[in-house]
Amino acid sequence: MGKLLLWIGVVAVVVAMMKLSTILQRKSERAADRRVPGRSGKGELMLRCDHCGVHFPAEEAERDAGHVYCSPEHRRAGARP
Ligand SMILES: [Zn+2]
Repeated sequence: MGKLLLWIGVVAVVVAMMKLSTILQRKSERAADRRVPGRSGKGELMLRCDHCGVHFPAEEAERDAGHVYCSPEHRRAGARP
């Protein structure tokens, strides 16, 4: 009887670990999706302002020294870490 309980415990642990790894895998897949450069519904490239962090269409970008900004004001203010 003791051995049967042990086996049930082992099976339960294995099933729990398999479920956990599936959940973690799904989470990392979702995180990977978020890392893909943002594109709006129309396939328009979106950039992130280096000053305020807002996303805006690439064609409206203010560029300076490798940084992109949403507006001339933020370009003058510069990048924030
Ligand atoms: Zn900005």
